[in-house]
This record gives sequence, C-alpha cells and structure tokens, in this order.
Amino acid sequence: MITAKARAVDGPDKPFRAAEINRRDLDSHDVLIEIKYAGICHSDIHTAHGEWGPVNYPLVPGHEIAGIVTDVGAEVTKYKVGDRVGVGCMVDSCGECVNCRKGEEQYCLKGNIQTYAGVDKYGEPTQGGYSTHIVVTEGFVVRIPDNIELDVAAPLLCAGITTFSPLNHWGASPGKKVAVIGMGGLGHMAVQIAHAMGAEVTVLSQSLKKKDDGLQLGADHYYATSDPETFEKLAGSFDLIINTVSSAKIDMDAYFALLTLDGTLVNVGAPGEPLSLNVMSLIGHRRSFAGSMIGGIRETQEMLDFCAKHNIFPKIEVISADQIDEAYERVLASDVKYRFVIDTSTI
Ligand SMILES: [Zn+2]
Ligand SMILES: [Zn+2]
Repeated sequence: MITAKARAVDGPDKPFRAAEINRRDLDSHDVLIEIKYAGICHSDIHTAHGEWGPVNYPLVPGHEIAGIVTDVGAEVTKYKVGDRVGVGCMVDSCGECVNCRKGEEQYCLKGNIQTYAGVDKYGEPTQGGYSTHIVVTEGFVVRIPDNIELDVAAPLLCAGITTFSPLNHWGASPGKKVAVIGMGGLGHMAVQIAHAMGAEVTVLSQSLKKKDDGLQLGADHYYATSDPETFEKLAGSFDLIINTVSSAKIDMDAYFALLTLDGTLVNVGAPGEPLSLNVMSLIGHRRSFAGSMIGGIRETQEMLDFCAKHNIFPKIEVISADQIDEAYERVLASDVKYRFVIDTSTI
C-alpha cells in the first residue's frame, strides 16, 4: 500500500479535515502520480453534500488532477517517470462494451469508474484528487502539453472536456452561432473553446457583471438573462446552446425559443432535481434537447492538445488545502473567477 495525505469530508455538513488514505500498490499497467494541483468542481460540492445520492464517507473529492509521474508498473508503455500528466472524472471502465470500444468510456454500459465516490475493479472505494498521490491505470491518464502550466491544466480535466466534447460533437465552427448559458467555471471554458473553433459566441449570463471578462475571453456578444428584452431580441438565433447552469430553477422553454430550426440545446450542468419543459417549445422548430457528460480519454487528449495549440487556459485562483470549505461557499455564491485550484503541496 502507498500512503497519501488527503483532505476528506465525513458527512454532508461536515468540514474538510486532514486525512491519510491508501493507494493500491502498482499493478502492471498502473501509474503513480504525485498530484501537484487539483481543481474544485461544482460536482465535488454536490457529491460532498450528498445531493447526488448516498455517499460512503469519508470522501476525498477532486477530479481535475494535474501532476507528475513518479513510478510506473512493469508493463506501462505510455508514460515514464517525470511525465506531466492529468486525470479527469473517471479512472477505469469495462474496456469491452460497444461504447468503450468506440473510445466513449464515459458512457461505458457497465458504468465508468468515477475518480472518487466510486468502487474500483478491486472492490475498493475510489478517492479523488484532494490528495498528494493517486494510482491510475495508464489508459485513463492523459498527457499535459508542455506549454500548459500544471495549475491551469487541472480544470481542463473536467471543465475543459465537459465543454469541448459537446462543442466538438455538435460541430461548433465558422458560420455557426453558439450561445453559452452561465459564465462560471464551465462557461468561461466554453466561450474560449467555441471561439477558437471559429463559432460566433454569445454569453447569456444573469447580469452583465462579467461582461468584460466574457468579451476578453472571445465572446462576440454578451446579454443579461435578467432583462426580458434579451429573449425577444435573440429569438430563433442559435444553432447550438450549451447550458452550464446546474440549477433546476431555469425556464428551459425561454431558452429553447432562442434556437434556430434544427438547433440543439445541450445540458452539461446537472441539476439535482428534475427540470420541467413544454415539449411544444421543441416541436415548433424541430429543436433538440440533449445532454453530454465529460468526454472519452482520446477526446480528452484532443482537448488538451487543442487548448495548448490555441493558448486556451482557465482563469484560476490557487488556494491552500485549509481554504477548501471557504472555497465551496464562494463557489455556491458564484464568487470565483473562475475556478479554484488547490495547491496540493499544502495538504
Ligand atoms: Zn467536474
Ligand atoms: Zn464499457
């Protein structure tokens, strides 16, 4: 067993505490990673608070992991000691089902193994990146290009791929009009990526508070959704809308009305409660309502290489391990520009 330091939470309303956790000894295809930085994703908060179903506490969240390889198993071929690598939201899958064989491991028919709050193939609970070390099979490790610093690389492993994958799948490109709902951790990545793909990008945010940032990151237009005129003005405008908001208190029909004929609205935010919608809003213009969850390992590597090529980096605030509880409160208050990243040397 390898002992790692970590920050764990013992219940839905408990604070984080220092902990020691075990990582398995390296199997032949395993890689040991010394974690340098771990991003704080909204999913960490939902899970830590038990909002997405029962959790086996103590829980170590974190699925935006960037670090350095410090040891490899006997048959590892992809990585060597010293390589800069990342791990995202999953650490394994069956590898045999039709979706795994397509490289869409996130949609594994047997369920992918989540980086934390999952159970690995040895029957042990998985624990995430708020930790000094992690052991992951090489097929679920990605390479971080040299021009991406490790602290800004971390949020790409969830926020980056979660927005890149639907933009890629639904063809954001020159001539396409793309809207992004929400200018937070996911939204500020979606804006940069959609812009780099050549689309005309509009941000739909509650207020105009972050307008300057949005335009600087590549948005062509920025509207406040608190202003009813926004919905009149933009009716029937967008080929693709990426909804990054994870609240169920959103008027979906108002947003469907912003789609063109054959337009698609994709939810990447995952509300804890069901959404309500009027199907008439879709029927009217043959519109689609879709969902998308992270991306496969091959696509995650494509995303990293794309971000490296286009100099796309998350905007981050680096914190120490003692500031996790405070950071959670600030994320819930939308008071972060735009992602907290834990410096794991402080764990
Ligand atoms: Zn996430
Ligand atoms: Zn599978």
